[in-house]
Amino acid sequence: MAGKKDIKRLVKPCVRKLRAYQAEETAGVRVKLDANESPYGFSLSCGAIASNRYPDPEGSAVRRVLARQMRVPKAQILLGNGSDELIYYLVTTFGGPVLYPTPTFVMFGHIASALGERTVEVPLGDDFDLDEKAMLRAVRKERPKLTFLATPNNPTGNCFSAGTVLKILEASRGIVVVDEAYMAYASRRGFVPLLADYPNMAILRTLSKVGLAALRLGYLVASEEIIQEVDKVRLPFNVNAYSQALAEEALADRKGARQNILAVVRERGRLEGELGKFSGLEVYPSEANFILFRVRKGGAGAVHAKLIKKGVLIRNMDSAVKGTLRVSVGTDMENTAFLKAMKEIFNEKGPTRSKGKKKS
Ligand code: PMP
Repeated sequence: MAGKKDIKRLVKPCVRKLRAYQAEETAGVRVKLDANESPYGFSLSCGAIASNRYPDPEGSAVRRVLARQMRVPKAQILLGNGSDELIYYLVTTFGGPVLYPTPTFVMFGHIASALGERTVEVPLGDDFDLDEKAMLRAVRKERPKLTFLATPNNPTGNCFSAGTVLKILEASRGIVVVDEAYMAYASRRGFVPLLADYPNMAILRTLSKVGLAALRLGYLVASEEIIQEVDKVRLPFNVNAYSQALAEEALADRKGARQNILAVVRERGRLEGELGKFSGLEVYPSEANFILFRVRKGGAGAVHAKLIKKGVLIRNMDSAVKGTLRVSVGTDMENTAFLKAMKEIFNEKGPTRSKGKKKS
């Protein structure tokens, strides 16, 4: 009989070397600004659901609403239990090499590694934009089956140059996945209108960042050919009946969704302005619902820990971009509490504010 000690040995080597995804402990935290959630939820109640029955396996009603909103045929949409699941399905379907710029959303690399696929990482260039030359070189040399481009990118917050994304699509003999998880907060429209011109493009979207993270509902928009292949690896009934019903209800409230997005964008501007006044910080411009900033001296880890002591949780991004922290945009009260805690921390250290000089 295999004992406890044998378990590690039994695990596939590609899984053995991974670390489980860890969400930070939130007990005792008053202000939670670490996970890029929207601070505004929807008040939903889905009515009677036949709890003894499996859900609609195709998620037809939700796909119909999304199809109408995006003006694409329903057959070009596939639902996932969060877009994380769709990333899993894409890698399962197409395999590797899997190319992505770094730093970016950690699940691209994590899922590729879990599935035993080779990853190719290309560092971002100036201003966190894609390094066009290096990306095209990697596309030609490594011939990735999948390239993941998150725009706006997490954790950097910027959109990639659309021209470079299109050049990568044109040079690729594999699938290019444009992950638009944060596009609702950007000043651009996104790539859905270009789908017909690029048969190797797949677009990922999610409801998680616009007030519906609890539902776990992401969607893939791509040519029917791509959707049909990815659908083969999808687990049956991957989106539960409650999420389907609640998503349908929430998606109908377009006005409410729009107002929430505008409120976050407004607060993002205020946060950027206020953080920019700290002489000890470098603030990076954001098109998403979070802001990345660098602590010039004293270390991001120390500021992160002090914030937690004051009941404010943000994300330490030091391992992805040296010296940085990422704060999600919250309600005005949450943002004010975060800024107050930051002022206290920087006061403890010495001078807090520059003389009106703005950094970005
Ligand atoms: N893509 C990006 C760029 C993300 O930052 C995230 C979540 N942090 C996701 C995808 C996954 O979102 P979900 O699984 O909640 O849909």
